[in-house]
Amino acid sequence: MADEVVGIIGAGIVGLAIGREITLRRPGTKVVVLEKEDRVAAHQTGHNSGVVHAGIYYRPGSLKARLCTRGGAMLREYCADRRLPYDECGKLVVAVTAEDVVRLEALADRAGDNLVPGLRRIGAGEIRDVEPHATGLAALHSPHTAITDFTRIARSFADDLVAAGGEVRLGCPVTGVTAAGDRLEVSSGERGLAVDRLVICAGIHADVVSGLAGDAAAPRIVPFRGEYMRVSAAKAHMVRGLIYPVPDPRYPFLGVHFTRRVSGEVEVGPNAVLATAREGYRRADVSLRDLYGIAAWPGTWRMAARHWRTGIRELHGSVSRRAYMKAARRYVPEIGAADVHRAGSGVRAQALDRDGSLVDDFRIHQVGRVTAVRNAPSPAATSSLAIAEHVVDVLDGTGSG
Ligand SMILES: Cc1cc2nc3c(=O)[nH]c(=O)nc-3n(C[C@H](O)[C@H](O)[C@H](O)COP(=O)(O)OP(=O)(O)OC[C@H]3O[C@@H](n4cnc5c(N)ncnc54)[C@H](O)[C@@H]3O)c2cc1C
Repeated sequence: MADEVVGIIGAGIVGLAIGREITLRRPGTKVVVLEKEDRVAAHQTGHNSGVVHAGIYYRPGSLKARLCTRGGAMLREYCADRRLPYDECGKLVVAVTAEDVVRLEALADRAGDNLVPGLRRIGAGEIRDVEPHATGLAALHSPHTAITDFTRIARSFADDLVAAGGEVRLGCPVTGVTAAGDRLEVSSGERGLAVDRLVICAGIHADVVSGLAGDAAAPRIVPFRGEYMRVSAAKAHMVRGLIYPVPDPRYPFLGVHFTRRVSGEVEVGPNAVLATAREGYRRADVSLRDLYGIAAWPGTWRMAARHWRTGIRELHGSVSRRAYMKAARRYVPEIGAADVHRAGSGVRAQALDRDGSLVDDFRIHQVGRVTAVRNAPSPAATSSLAIAEHVVDVLDGTGSG
């Protein structure tokens, strides 16, 4: 890779971590990151829960399991080194029904396989020792799950990259990729960039941009909006760290949870509502083009046939604060609809296969000179430094794609 030009599309945390890793490992390589927005971290990286996951949920051996554990440890060191916020406030995964208790056991076994540090099963009484206002039948306590600010981390990655001779070009939407001899010509408006290799980290647009570079149509990205509520200052003290439900294993989402932010604020969320635009941060945001793309994908209808009940429930929670908080109250009964107000939202880039299955693991395609990150949902922010190592191993030919 030495003396090559590597283009990266997308200045989210994944693209920036990969660019940074290339400049560190291959000082002769020129890295240029092309970002359509006027700032880094404009989309998922700047609109998430800020949780550094400990690796509880992921199928042992999967990329998520491997890269989350390693990435979390790397991020902890990075934040200490750069004096970026990193608070090990800990997390409870709380079972509130008999069915949850059974699932919690399975989750504990999985977390054990993933070597999650310090994880303990605790009973109803001990829940109150960790979170005095939470209730449940049993819980898993992960003391090393942390919170951070992924926007600041992404900016710091960009600074590292620039300091090492790389470039981040903002306001550069990539509109085409064509072969030009041994190289690729990446076009952005009037401007072009000739690269030896290209890495696509375009988040919610990953499928479209990968298509420009000749990658397969599947998986398509479907946008799932996650809306947050903010707990009033009077009740924020009732949540010390992170309080999560036991996730439904049929979905890649973790369920509405209580999250302490590094700012000290406490939020509830995010839900998961199928959005009507890729960048549909508000219910009113509709893109006919995006809607057509979602509707034209056979996987969408297969997913809808399987999960329509959940879809309707999420939609109800989206329009009714009371319905939204009904689920959350099972974990912290003293915080109800009157104690929260609407906060921001994020849009998850969730890959969907043709057969209607939501792609669970990270998915990274290699097509000639192009490496396309096709699915990098949560915990990709936690895992970003390890994803970067993995991708650069693949580029170097020392890892498997
Ligand atoms: C609501 C929510 C909560 C989450 N919570 C957590 C959490 O607590 N912990 C965790 O680890 N993860 C969490 N995640 C997931 C995490 O935020 C993402 O996995 C991660 O940010 C993905 O980073 P990315 O760089 O791949 O994507 P993004 O941050 O979306 O970046 C992609 C970039 O590509 C750019 N782009 C797209 N198309 C083009 C183009 N044609 N030309 C140029 N640029 C282009 C976009 O503008 C964007 O800046 C959450 C996500 C959401 C939405």
